[in-house]
Amino acid sequence: MALSVKLKWSGSLYDLEVDPGMKVSDLKEMVKEKTGVLPQRQKLLNLKHKGKPAGDEMKLEELKLKQKMTIMMMGTREENLEDVLVPPDVGEIIDDFDIDDEVEIKLHNRSEHLAKIERRVREYEVKKLNDPRPGKKLLVLDVDYTLFDHRSNAERAEELMRPYLHEFLSVAYVNYDIVIWSATSMKWIEVKMQELGVTNNPNYKIAFFMDHAAMITVHTPEYGVVNTKPLGVIWGKYDFYSAKNTIMFDDLRRNFLMNPQTGLKIRPFKLAHLYRSTDDELKKLSTYLTLISSLDDFTTLEHRKWERYVRKRLEEQGKEET
Ligand code: MG
Repeated sequence: MALSVKLKWSGSLYDLEVDPGMKVSDLKEMVKEKTGVLPQRQKLLNLKHKGKPAGDEMKLEELKLKQKMTIMMMGTREENLEDVLVPPDVGEIIDDFDIDDEVEIKLHNRSEHLAKIERRVREYEVKKLNDPRPGKKLLVLDVDYTLFDHRSNAERAEELMRPYLHEFLSVAYVNYDIVIWSATSMKWIEVKMQELGVTNNPNYKIAFFMDHAAMITVHTPEYGVVNTKPLGVIWGKYDFYSAKNTIMFDDLRRNFLMNPQTGLKIRPFKLAHLYRSTDDELKKLSTYLTLISSLDDFTTLEHRKWERYVRKRLEEQGKEET
């Protein structure tokens, strides 16, 4: 017997006629026809089997669907997803483009850039979650490809999470206030961080989130217009943070074009399904953060050589790298 159920998504209700013999993947196709949300982007919240999200191969009859039941969905149409992933004012910039490691970029129009930064300091509102802690250093983290593989598909956000993320943030939090700064939209950052269990984690606290609206575009002779994350925005808003106590991780060097010495280019975390079992970048970097945290001045460091630094310090301490 066919069942009449409703799908609730984005404030609207959709009627669906389903057959108990259908698989979850068939249902997702049906939902795609109705809503335009691709199956891999659909999160059917109350479609569960023994408390866990129902797998695509499960049959609806295993899931205790009832007549007139309302299935709740979270999900985004592909075209809308692009809207939130690509900041609206930087349409001409290719997302993954980066500048060469060895090229020293000379920025022209310095005063113009400083004026843009000053405007962000005045007008941009960070999304504050927790108070800064006086005396702590500052760690600024990118999201996509740094903490999360945003291009692979998965049923659950955790499958795309970089290994050791929570351990890394727990260790970092001891000595650093933590800021998440992504070139996407605030809504997207909030959804992702919530899904990953970062926002309300019992073992660490995030100071604040920043999104694409805090970034500025700069002109470079070699690369044209480049969108970048100037730490001056944070330093201008909070005078106890500076180049001396700040470090920023990003998989794109261009994001720290305005403050190259403060940036550490992390290896990108891509193809999560292949590398989830071997990637230990965050684990190793947590050791680096701990080792440098006792320094008074980070401007003496060369983050490019962070691995060598870790090896040497641990050797001096008679410890093995783990
Ligand atoms: Mg990134």
